[in-house]
Amino acid sequence: DDAPQDPGTSALLERVIETLRQSRQELDALDAKSGDGDAGASMESGAESIARALSANRLNTEALPLMFAGIGQLLSREMGGSSGVLLSILFTAAAASLDRRGKLDEALAAGVEKVQAYGGAKPGDRTMLDALIPAIESLQRGESLAQAAQAARDGAQATAQLVRANAGRSAYVPESALKGVVDPGAEAVARVFEALATMG
Ligand code: ADP
Ligand code: MG
Ligand code: MG
Repeated sequence: DDAPQDPGTSALLERVIETLRQSRQELDALDAKSGDGDAGASMESGAESIARALSANRLNTEALPLMFAGIGQLLSREMGGSSGVLLSILFTAAAASLDRRGKLDEALAAGVEKVQAYGGAKPGDRTMLDALIPAIESLQRGESLAQAAQAARDGAQATAQLVRANAGRSAYVPESALKGVVDPGAEAVARVFEALATMG
């Protein structure tokens, strides 16, 4: 029959890992213009930590709360950068919310709230939040993954016009140098949602 196939959680993870591997150079290049040039390396190190756990059967992909908690731990131990700390917080808080309420869109929203509480950035500060928040809001409206990916892409693209950064290292870069440069964390988020949407 032609019902859509469930690609399976580990296949989705593999796809995201592959996307982040392939994005390393471009994300580093964006970060070289707005920060310290290692955002692609951070994302790849996070992806590789998940890849290693998957191949060693150390990540439970059968139960989403356990998987998110496991990813949160892996990223905290093995992923570098501010983005590693913040994404670890996101997955850990999302896991706790999934345990309590069981809804993915709500859990992601709870995760993003914690990232804001710990990281101190708001929407419009030129960070990954500018892609994450619109994507999660799209999911909360009941829209498709393709629509959420488009929202993430639009949010990431808009960071190129945000020349006054208020959080992260790009807060120290002159405004003129940021013009036209997409925030690497937001770009990574958009690519991850786009990758998920092609499989979803
Ligand atoms: P570092 O600045 O430690 O080198 P990375 O290069 O790994 O960190 O990640 C940089 C990305 O992290 C930025 O592009 C931005 O999207 C995100 N980021 C930085 N600070 C914050 C923050 N306070 N809140 C949310 N995201 C942030
Ligand atoms: Mg960096
Ligand atoms: Mg760094």
